[in-house]
Amino acid sequence: MDAITYEIGDLVQVKKPHPCGSRIWEIMQLGADVRLKCQGCGHIVMVPRVKFNRMAKGKVENY
Ligand SMILES: [Zn+2]
Repeated sequence: MDAITYEIGDLVQVKKPHPCGSRIWEIMQLGADVRLKCQGCGHIVMVPRVKFNRMAKGKVENY
């Protein structure tokens, strides 16, 4: 079970890198779906919360 609490504006590292090479995404919206912005290329995606919980490794505190 994932106990990490995410907030809007958090930087999150994911398991699989984006095609641009970045693993860091910024949370722009939280709900049943999560809106994420790639910090490498600025691409924005919407993913279901359950998928986000699987792909996220945790917050990036010092990026
Ligand atoms: Zn990207």
